[in-house]
Amino acid sequence: MTDQTPNPRASEHDRWLRDAPGPLARTFAPVAGYGVTISSMFRPTVTEQYPFEPANLMPRYHGRHQLNRYDDGLEKCIGCELCAWACPADAIYVEAADNTPGAQYSPGERYGRVYQINYLRCIFCGMCIEACPTRALTMTHEIEELVGPTRTGLIYEKTDLLAPVPDGALDAPHPMAEGTEDGDYYRGAVTGPTQAQADWVRAHRPEDPTLATAKVVTAPARPKEAVR
Ligand code: SF4
Ligand code: SF4
Repeated sequence: MTDQTPNPRASEHDRWLRDAPGPLARTFAPVAGYGVTISSMFRPTVTEQYPFEPANLMPRYHGRHQLNRYDDGLEKCIGCELCAWACPADAIYVEAADNTPGAQYSPGERYGRVYQINYLRCIFCGMCIEACPTRALTMTHEIEELVGPTRTGLIYEKTDLLAPVPDGALDAPHPMAEGTEDGDYYRGAVTGPTQAQADWVRAHRPEDPTLATAKVVTAPARPKEAVR
């Protein structure tokens, strides 16, 4: 008895013979490849010349971290360590300390005395900036400086990460704007240093260069419901 089951390989071969390109198509097939090349020559160039030209970074690119300040110059970091707990790479080390009347670095009770980020561990995931309750920690577009010849050089200290004093602000430490609480800072009510803050800095650090550029504003009025 003969096996009538069709041979699948034989039918594939038949299909290839049926659909095979004709002699003309076969002649021009090698040239068709150049068509792709030639058409690409007229498309816009997407090649970037980094590092000879600055890198074209996306708006939400995650570069070096920055510890931000309020408009009067106080630091936003309150040393809560939430960023360190959120970090999956254990790249952040924070040590908090108490603000005192003679050395107030941030609104409220505590500030980040020691702040380190180990860029040998950081994977730039951004979970730390999501965890920060005061928006003290953000990520910049800085990438050039995240290289170095030594391991210790890639452990950034607070002085490396702290944002410059904003225009018209006073360098910390100095008291909070008179009549305000830390909540007023979080709400954005403090828009610059007050005269009382400038007087305090002049009395304690007369040589501070930010005194010359400080632009004093009136102390923010507390909302009625917030007055106790
Ligand atoms: S970006 Fe990610 S890995 Fe880097 S310090 Fe923040 S949480 Fe850690
Ligand atoms: S950067 Fe933000 S999350 Fe980290 S310790 Fe400072 S306030 Fe807390």
